[in-house]
Amino acid sequence: MWAIIGTWAMVKNGIEKANNLLKEGASSKEAIKIAINDVEDNPYFKSVGYGGLPNKNMEVELDAGFMDGDTFDIGAVMAVKNIKNPIDLAIKLSKENYNNILAGIGAEAYADQNGFERCNMLTDRAKDKYFARLKEDRAKLSAYDGSDYDAADTVCVCALDDSNNISVGTSTSGLFMKHPGRVGDSPLVGSGFYANSEYGACAATGMGEDLMRHLISYEVVRNMKDGLNAQEACQKAMEEIDKKLKAKREISDLSIIAIDKNGNMGAATNTKEFSFVYASEKESPTIYLAKNIEGMTTIEKASEKWFEEYMSTRR
Ligand code: ASP
Repeated sequence: MWAIIGTWAMVKNGIEKANNLLKEGASSKEAIKIAINDVEDNPYFKSVGYGGLPNKNMEVELDAGFMDGDTFDIGAVMAVKNIKNPIDLAIKLSKENYNNILAGIGAEAYADQNGFERCNMLTDRAKDKYFARLKEDRAKLSAYDGSDYDAADTVCVCALDDSNNISVGTSTSGLFMKHPGRVGDSPLVGSGFYANSEYGACAATGMGEDLMRHLISYEVVRNMKDGLNAQEACQKAMEEIDKKLKAKREISDLSIIAIDKNGNMGAATNTKEFSFVYASEKESPTIYLAKNIEGMTTIEKASEKWFEEYMSTRR
């Protein structure tokens, strides 16, 4: 049995490629690399890899994380510049015995020593958006407080392969106009992602500063350990984080995806609409929409028209 799930409709093409690989017996790790690379390399997606939106110094700073739920290998990079495929670096680091998580210039030096491709990740389109935002409100640049957060849309992928191995990966350029050096939840183990092949995997997208307060990905996998399936585990963790945080502070958009050891999909959100893509041995790649209605997540299939509109706004 294989199954794969990824955040946001932008991952559809990547999930299709990864699903074909899983069908041929590829590992969950290979599937995650292929799916995430597809999004990282696409300049139309302004929240991941090439074409990602810059920080307030007009630099594209990238975060990525990976975990193999069989071996518990972990690897992550934070605030790296000019790395073509940050997920590849995170995967490579996951095979080291130590120094599994590297930040900034240290991570870039490691990339150079290990022959990783460097690339100027700032596109003209991203520059235009930067200057447009500058014009809109110069004052906001003095201290980014998240108030102009428009979903950064991290690509997250959880996969189960035919050998029952579950892995998870994330890649993002983080928040537009973030403070240089700001690290979100995406490269943080337990927060942005977590996998344990005995139970399942989970990954998160949305305001990192909120997601990391509850170690939400770990929490979902722990719920699966308690016997919940992927959907129940996501719903429970999302309800808890939303309630707990709202009681104390303003919170932003949060969404999660998960896969359990039986290949079931799970998703939850506190937003009006969150898209994700799921495929398995039994189901060809399908786009779903998760919607929060009065505290509960409902899930429905997205129409072709919905996807056409989604893609046209990206182009
Ligand atoms: N979680 C990402 C971050 O905080 C952003 C997102 O996924 O929307 O950097």
